[in-house]
Amino acid sequence: MILTLVEHRNGKVDEVSLELLTFAKKLNQKLNTKIGAVILSHQAKELAAAFTTLAIDEVIVAESPAFQNYTPELYADVLKKLVQSKNAKAFLFPHTPLGTDIAPKLAASLKVGALAGCTGFEFESDKPVFTRPVYNGKLQAKVTLESSPLILTMERGAFKKYEEKGQSIITPIAYDVSHIQGSPTQPRYKSLGFREAQKTSVDITKAKIIVSGGRGVGKKENFQLIKDLAQALGAEYAASRPVVDNEWVERDRQVGSSGKVVSPTLYIACGISGAIQHIAGMKKSSVIVAINKDPEAPIFNVATYGIVGDLFKILPIMIEEARKLKHG
Ligand SMILES: Cc1cc2nc3c(=O)[nH]c(=O)nc-3n(C[C@H](O)[C@H](O)[C@H](O)COP(=O)(O)OP(=O)(O)OC[C@H]3O[C@@H](n4cnc5c(N)ncnc54)[C@H](O)[C@@H]3O)c2cc1C
Repeated sequence: MILTLVEHRNGKVDEVSLELLTFAKKLNQKLNTKIGAVILSHQAKELAAAFTTLAIDEVIVAESPAFQNYTPELYADVLKKLVQSKNAKAFLFPHTPLGTDIAPKLAASLKVGALAGCTGFEFESDKPVFTRPVYNGKLQAKVTLESSPLILTMERGAFKKYEEKGQSIITPIAYDVSHIQGSPTQPRYKSLGFREAQKTSVDITKAKIIVSGGRGVGKKENFQLIKDLAQALGAEYAASRPVVDNEWVERDRQVGSSGKVVSPTLYIACGISGAIQHIAGMKKSSVIVAINKDPEAPIFNVATYGIVGDLFKILPIMIEEARKLKHG
């Protein structure tokens, strides 16, 4: 069986759980086994409803008050037992804080390898060869896992949400938590609760003009140039994913397949190469202006107007001109 972990919070399933099922289906083209989505929760049966109408084989639910908050030892123990009882060929996790915490724990307890941050795979002689970005996405590593079951985490946005309708059965699993270190009776790791990061009120999807900065901006302090141009134009500022990953800009301003999809009347891309994941989030903009010092940058393929040059020379001129226009 191929197992996937359903991630959820506050009674809501995270959509990455559906992307994992597409990954599982694709993997199953050669593994030829069954697919099961695993839900650990104090309200697992309610969450299962979102999966029973999908074309997968099983929705495996472990319902217990002990699963109200994530407890690593408890999760690892349940999942290990599940892998063994289902004779799992693979267990797929989302590349989220939870997934990246539990996948290596499970792998270690099974004494097998694990792969983190997978974005795709291809079969070579019936064996999956996984791709994962390395060096901040500059290179793509191709990796095979020699041990079984395959344990890996998948990047958000790497696969489409699984939508194929069907009917799957619910398999409840009874689980006694009392023997586990870390269980509510013997806490070693105690989850005190979950605090949502403070949300900013910005919604870039509604902006008419967006000035977006990429890795070409160089460092956090330089991002001020992007903000200045945005302000001069009465626009919102946004960013590519590496900028967000480097914490130069808040996550809710990320444009792309794993960020927001925007369609302003004007999108100014500064120091953004134009990777497909970024293009997916902004290609519907009415007018796209790209500023990049590399004339071969793929962003120019979707740009209405392209400026080949150094953004540190071009942006100050644009800011000045925009301010002049604004103030007459
Ligand atoms: C599953 C998955 C999901 C992803 N989701 C997203 C997403 O939602 N959004 C997203 O953006 N990316 C996403 N990515 C990452 C994406 O693949 C690229 O790595 C990323 O978009 C590259 O960002 P960038 O263009 O800012 O950086 P780079 O690719 O490093 O490009 C920087 C550009 O700046 C130019 N430059 C450098 N200095 C200057 C200068 N002084 N003046 C002018 N130009 C300059 C360079 O020529 C280069 O073209 C995702 C990747 C994966 C695997």
